[in-house]
This record gives sequence, C-alpha cells and structure tokens, in this order.
Amino acid sequence: MRETRGTSRQQNQPQGHYGLTSPISLALPNDVDHIHTQKLIEAMKPFGVFEDKEELYHRTTVLGKLNNLVREWISELAESKNLPPSIIEHLGGKIFTFGSYRLGVHTKGSDIDALCVAPSHVERSDFFQSFFEKLKNREEVKNLRAIEDAYVPVIKFDFDGIEIDLVFAKLSMPTVSDDLDLRDDSCLRSLDIRCIRSLNGSRVTDEILRLVPNLENFRLTLRAIKLWAKRRGVYSNIMGFLGGVSWAMLVARICQLYPNALASTLVNKFFLIFSKWDWPKPVLLKRLEESFLNLPVWDPRVNPSDRYHVMPIITPAYPQQNSTYNVSTSTRAVMVEEFQRGLEVTDEILKGKSDWSKLFEPLNFFQKYKHYIVLTASAFTEEHHLNWIGLVESKIRVLVGNLERNEFITIAHVQPQSFPGNENLYKQSGYVSMWFLGLVFKKVESAEKTNVDLTHGIQSFTDTVYRQASALNILKEGMKIEATYVKRKQLHYFLPAETLQKRKKQRVSEISQGNSGLQCKRSSLGESCSDTSKDSRAPSNSSLLNKISKLDTSTAETERNVACQSCSGANSVAEPSTSKGLCIPVTDPKMEASVALRTSGPPIGCTIPGYNPVSQLRTCFVQGHHKLSGTLITDPKSAAPKQHYSPTSKVSRLPTPGECPQKAIDGEKLNARDSDYTESGYPQDGRRRAAKNGVLDGKSMQIPVITSRSQRLSSKELPDSSSPVPTNSIRIIKRSIKLTLNG
Ligand code: ATP
Ligand code: MG
Repeated sequence: MRETRGTSRQQNQPQGHYGLTSPISLALPNDVDHIHTQKLIEAMKPFGVFEDKEELYHRTTVLGKLNNLVREWISELAESKNLPPSIIEHLGGKIFTFGSYRLGVHTKGSDIDALCVAPSHVERSDFFQSFFEKLKNREEVKNLRAIEDAYVPVIKFDFDGIEIDLVFAKLSMPTVSDDLDLRDDSCLRSLDIRCIRSLNGSRVTDEILRLVPNLENFRLTLRAIKLWAKRRGVYSNIMGFLGGVSWAMLVARICQLYPNALASTLVNKFFLIFSKWDWPKPVLLKRLEESFLNLPVWDPRVNPSDRYHVMPIITPAYPQQNSTYNVSTSTRAVMVEEFQRGLEVTDEILKGKSDWSKLFEPLNFFQKYKHYIVLTASAFTEEHHLNWIGLVESKIRVLVGNLERNEFITIAHVQPQSFPGNENLYKQSGYVSMWFLGLVFKKVESAEKTNVDLTHGIQSFTDTVYRQASALNILKEGMKIEATYVKRKQLHYFLPAETLQKRKKQRVSEISQGNSGLQCKRSSLGESCSDTSKDSRAPSNSSLLNKISKLDTSTAETERNVACQSCSGANSVAEPSTSKGLCIPVTDPKMEASVALRTSGPPIGCTIPGYNPVSQLRTCFVQGHHKLSGTLITDPKSAAPKQHYSPTSKVSRLPTPGECPQKAIDGEKLNARDSDYTESGYPQDGRRRAAKNGVLDGKSMQIPVITSRSQRLSSKELPDSSSPVPTNSIRIIKRSIKLTLNG
C-alpha cells in the first residue's frame, strides 16, 4: 500500500521535469549536502517525527485487518441483498489511505486518513449502519463514532490504538478490484457529491506523490517543514494558517524546482522561494485541467469569490480546490515573516554558523507583541466546555478578520495553542480556555492621540459564535466568551511565568506530545529580503527573484496570473480597510498604545475588583436574571467546581455563512457534524474534538438568532437593544473596547 518509488539516488535522477516550469537548478548534491541532511535528521529525531519499524508494522497490520473487514462486510451485504454467489466472489472492496500516512510523513501517534471504496450494490447508508455495527462488535475498536451528516461523512475510531478517520465512496461499477486506480477522472462519473468529496482526499494525495521527482527527499523535507511549522505556531488550517496538505504541496513545488537537491538544500530553498513569492499568485503543481464532469473548481476567472483568496495553494486532482481558504492577510503576513526567519536561519546553518535545532526553536509569542487580546471561553461542565471551545476555536479566524479590517491594525496574530484559564481569575466560570492574539497597530503620523475602537470587530465575532451555537442547538447555560485587551506586561495575570519567559528550548517531552511549542526566542527579522543565499549552484537571489517571478508562467497560468492580478485589486476587501481621514500613517517608532484608563493592576475582563470596563468587551449569556451595572457580569448560578482540562491541539471547524456563500446556513440542517469539515470538503485539523465529544447533541437553550448591530458602541456597558430580547431571559451584555494610541 505504501509508495516505494524513489529510494535510491541513482534511481531517482528525474527524467524530464515535473510541474509547470523547468527546474531552477539541476545541481546534484555534494558531500556537504549529505552531511547537512544527516544533521537535519539527527536534529529532528528528538521531536518524535520518525516512527520506528514496530509502530509502522503495527499500522500496516491494522490496515490489513480493516481491509479484510471491509471485504467481508461487502460480501455479507451482497448475500443479504441476494446477489448470486458467482458475483459475490468477485465483488472486492478496498481501503485506500491518504493524508500524512499515505504521504509517508506521519509522526508517532498520528492518525490514519482512510477511504473505503465499495462496489455499486453498497449504499452509503449501509456503511453507516451495517459496517458501523460490524466495527462496534470488534474488540479492537474503541471510541467509535459516526459523523454521517458532515460535509465529508466519516466514521472515526481507534483500531488497536491507531486513530482512524474512515470516509466512504461507492463507485458506479459492480466490482472493486485490488488494482483499482482512482486517478482516472472517469471514476467520478455519476457519483454522489459526497462520494466525490470522499475520493478527493485520496486522489489529491496520490497526485502529489506522482508530481514530486524524488520521494525520499520530498518526505524528509516535508517532515522538517511540518515540524518547523508546528514549532513556529503556523500549522493550523482552522486558525487561518496552513494544514498538512498545503504544506505538502508547497514542499512538492520546491522539489519540482530543485529535483536533485537533498533535504537540507530543499528546506533552505523552501524558505527562499516562499519568502519572496508573489502572493496571491497561486502555487500549482500542475496545469489546471478541464473535465467533462463540470464540477466546481478553483478558478478566479470564473468564480469572483476565488479572487479574495490571499494565498492560493491549489490541489492537483480534479476538481481542483484552494486548500488555504482560511488564510487571511494577517496570517499570511505572519507566515511570510516566518519564511523570512527560516531563510535567515537555514542560510546560517548551511554556512556552518548555526545548527538545525535553531530552526525548530519555538516562537516566543508572548514577547513578540506589545498588545494582546485575551479571548476566553468558559462553560460550567467539561462536556459543555469541550463543545464550546470547539465552536469558539473554529471561529477565531473570524475575529482575526474583523480585527484586520480595523483601520489601525496591521497584524492580528492568533496563537493556535490554547491555555487553561487562570484559576484565580476565573474562579466562578467553571471550565475556561484562553487564546491570545497579538496586535500590531499602524503608526499614525502627527497624531498625538488616536482612539482605536475594537468594539465592533469583537462584538461581531461574539455574535457569530452565539448565532452559530444557537443554530447548532448547543448553547448551554454558563457558556461565555470574553475578550480583553491587555498590554504585554499584563499577560502575567493570565499565564504562568514559565510560559511567558523566553525559552530558547522546550523540553523534548512536551514537543513530542504534539505541543507546537510557541515559547521561544524570536529572531530578528527585517533584513531578510537581502540576498542571503550564497548557494553557488543556484542563481543569486536577485536573479532568482526574476526567475521566481517568471515561474509558473505556462500559457494556462499566464492567463491565471492575469486573472490574479485583477484579483489583487479585489483583494482590497481582505486587506485592512483604510478609510481616508481616519487612517494616518505615523512614522514615530515610539508610538505606544495604552489602555484608555487603567494600565497597571489586573487587566479588566476578569472577575476581580478594580477592573476598568472601558477596554473590555464582554458578551455573556446569563440565564435567569442578569445584572446591568458598572461591574462585570457574574453568573448568578453557582459555578461548577473549577478544574483544568488538557487543551488538545485539534479543534473543530464550523463554516460561517460568510465563508460558505454557496451553502445555505440552515438552522435545521447545519449541525456540528456538518461543521467539522471545510468548504472544500475535507476534514479539518480540529474535527476530533467535537466528534469525540458526542457531537454537540443533547438539550440546549433555544435563543433567537442575534444579528449584527451598531457600528460603534459608545457607552461602557449597554444592553443589546437592537437584538430581540430572548424570551427565556438570556440577555447579551456588551462593553466597549477602546484604546488610545499615543502618537
Ligand atoms: P496531518 O499530519 O496534520 O494529519 P494530513 O496531510 O494528514 O496532515 P489532514 O488535515 O489530516 O492532512 O487531511 C487529510 C487529507 O484531506 C489531506 O491529505 C487532503 O487530501 C485532504 N484535505 C484536508 N484539508 C484539506 C483542504 N483544506 N483542502 C483540500 N484537501 C484537504
Ligand atoms: Mg491526517
């Protein structure tokens, strides 16, 4: 089942070229490259990125058992449907793997994405009924749950300790042979859309593998990039960074451009190329193909909404999709900055001035910014909390987008990892999770003071979350979100000192447990646009830059680039808005933002005395009576005993009306199961939490949908008069968040 092509150097001298353009360099590796690559492998080992042979063997065994189970089930089903024995004998049925396991870059403990392909007599409902039952009866199977009404329906389970996500497709053919190849588009003919979506993951992964010149080099480079991205806090599709498949495609493109290079060179070239990439020019691994099937594909010439994608990385199998739908201008800027740092560090490493461990140093997020927003989500019970944070996390990029559109904000950077709430601050809130967003404000020229109002952006985010919670029928008493503005020096009210202090290195045990480790020293950036590549085998950066700008300019793509040029104009929607008269760029580097009133002591937004309501926006639902006073709302019901939970890095993702213009947000149909999947139909990195968690069912409070409100809230605290007051006494309380930037 595993790809075996490309394991020896001689064997892998690529013939012709891969991708849309000819390679940048065909240089063969020298001895130094081999040494650097070996050192790279050694530097990655402590992070648990390589599985040992036993673990690998165990996975193969599990997949073999699963394959047999599928075939057995298909035969049994055929018998129950009275198919003749002569046909039953040849029905077949097959498990395909995709995602990181199929790519050969999975790490210890990672899941397996798998696809069950069945012949035409098998219905989707059979998969979710009789196959589900069959799994249920196996003692190796644990944590079994079906998410049938998802965008890509899936059965999730642990088989002998291996986490499996199994999707289903039935083909319109009577048998499924062992040598079935899903590459041919004709296998999609007359299939149900859910089957097409389910097949897509496998078709994409296989196509990526076909499009790289040397698999061994590709895999090692991808492992290095995935590890780097996790350590630097930019591995998260749901938070608006990139997920596994997008990183894989970026690495694959570099492999096409340097087909003979080893991983040490490829990692360096990865940072070189993508720190200079002319986004939103798309990254494509091959020419976009037309097909007779007329399925919707990513094409900004045809679909106006595709023109707003700021970092398009296009899947190579039909129907092509942009895998980076969630990326915003802020998250792209953060990633480009990290690419620049990666370039600086790898240049140093290749010159022998540094070693690979520096590349994997975690980002010190809490030293990076002067201004932060602390977002907290709390609920009374653990189960409610897990559902609630799944929803809140899936919407954080809406908050990032709203903040980006504030005329005074240039960067809104969310750290993907969440933290348990500080017990002292949130005594009464039950189970609490916190996320942190770093803010960079625009320099405002010749303005002594500039007032920045974050109220609307935050309010519209909280509205979105509550509206979705209501539509999903998951809103429970005690579920709250709070957003608080704090300065860096106030972060210690929320986080322990060891989290805040600069740590160059993180304990390996933390790392290998999947902690993306964002606390580290931040290297200085800024000069990285200069030519730091001294690789004599490649053109200098300036000439390389010219070459890069000429990359991907085959006929089809030239047209596409033209289309994308026009999208750049349209991109202004996604850029921070710059309404004239208000946004005055400042040159004074000493500009500081300060909380309007209180700058010392515990930040407001916490249930402690002495807070300043001005810079806080707090929206909470309170069942029963609510307080409207100058103090914070405290929930009248007694809080559940406080316990910490262990935040998982996986979160669920729920589409919003804005994200999915083509999909109706229907309170009847939309549920958490649907929402665990992206618009493009693929499971999101956070899907496990919601699914593991009983998928948000049970009795919930019904409240009317809250619509967006006034642009600016001037009062410090006001009831939401424009929303209908829910009949069950749930009320929304708002406060404004206003800052004063001192020029
Ligand atoms: P990880 O190691 O994080 O699990 P992965 O490569 O397995 O990385 P997943 O996020 O698990 O990636 O997704 C599994 C597969 O689903 C991908 O290989 C891809 O084929 C498909 N997929 C996931 N997200 C997207 C997306 N945003 N767009 C297109 N395809 C996607
Ligand atoms: Mg995966």
